[in-house]
Formats: sequence, C-alpha cells, structure tokens
Amino acid sequence: MITVMSEEVISREFVTNSPIETEELAFLIAKNLNGGEVIELISDLGGGKTTFTRGLVKGVGSQDHVSSPTFTISNEYADGRLRVCHFDMYRLSDPGIMANELAEIISDQDTVTVVEWADSIAHVLPKHKTTVKISFVSESQRKITINYLKSTSYITEGI
Ligand code: ADP
Ligand code: MG
Repeated sequence: MITVMSEEVISREFVTNSPIETEELAFLIAKNLNGGEVIELISDLGGGKTTFTRGLVKGVGSQDHVSSPTFTISNEYADGRLRVCHFDMYRLSDPGIMANELAEIISDQDTVTVVEWADSIAHVLPKHKTTVKISFVSESQRKITINYLKSTSYITEGI
C-alpha cells in the first residue's frame, strides 16, 4: 500500500482598499522572503499583478521602476537584498523555450521568482510555490488569497 504524504495547503485572505494597500501587503511579504521562493500571480487583466510585484520589489529594497513584463516576457530587479525575476507567460506561443531558463532562475537561492499566466509552465514550478490570487471586489478593492504549504508559512508571518 502506497501512502501519499501531502503537505497541508494553508490559505489566507486579505482585502485591500487601494493599489497602495496591495503594494503594502506585497512589501510586507517581501520582508519575510529568504530567496528561492516562487510566487505565482493569478488575476484577470487589471487585477493588480503588476501592482503587487511593485510592492514586492520595493520590499526587497530595490529602487527600480517596476513595469509589466507583458512585452518583454521577463523583467529583472537586481539591486535589492534579493533579486526579483518577474515573468509573464501570457504571450509566449511556445512556453517550452522558457522552461529551462525559468527552472534555472527558480533554483537560484538569492532570487524570488514571480510568474504570471503560469499554466503553460506549471510543471516547472516547485511544489513549495506560493499562489497569490487577486480578484475584483469593487473598482478599488481586491480580495487577495494567498495559498502556501505549511513549510513556507513564514511568508505571511506577522501580517
Ligand atoms: P495586472 O498586472 O493584473 O494587469 P495592474 O497592477 O497593472 O494589473 O493594474 C491594476 C489596476 O487596478 C491599476 O490601475 C490599479 O490602480 C487598480 N486598482 C484599484 N484598486 C486596486 C487594489 N486594491 N489593488 C491593486 N490594484 C488596484
Ligand atoms: Mg501586469
């Protein structure tokens, strides 16, 4: 008889009332990161994925301007305590070409990897990934649901 040991997934929910609050939440999360974390961002267009990433990048101490990687596929912010690599797989017709690069970046322990529209490369993402799902509540409010394994619960510690 094979016993599958699956680790418990923890879910925490936040409601933000402005883009600034979404940035602040991500900023606080960034303070808890050690490097090696993978954050999958899920929302509709205009949900707040770039806004969240902006807070995350500020939180690791980077002064860089954060923009959407929609056209560049990936953006890198390397002047903070940890490097943040932000991927957007939305426009990638052949996601396979990114899989190796992505896997290499994910394995770097001084890097936080953020991925939008990750479905096509889901197999490259580690089990210990954190999922941040942003949904519309109103024009200025978002519900932010964060799912993670117990072993990475430090990510929302103190928040
Ligand atoms: P995405 O990257 O998911 O397409 P963006 O972060 O680029 O989304 O855009 C989010 C938009 O929603 C911005 O125009 C932002 O000002 C607006 N917004 C309004 N309320 C919020 C909120 N609570 N959190 C995040 N963004 C918000
Ligand atoms: Mg965006």
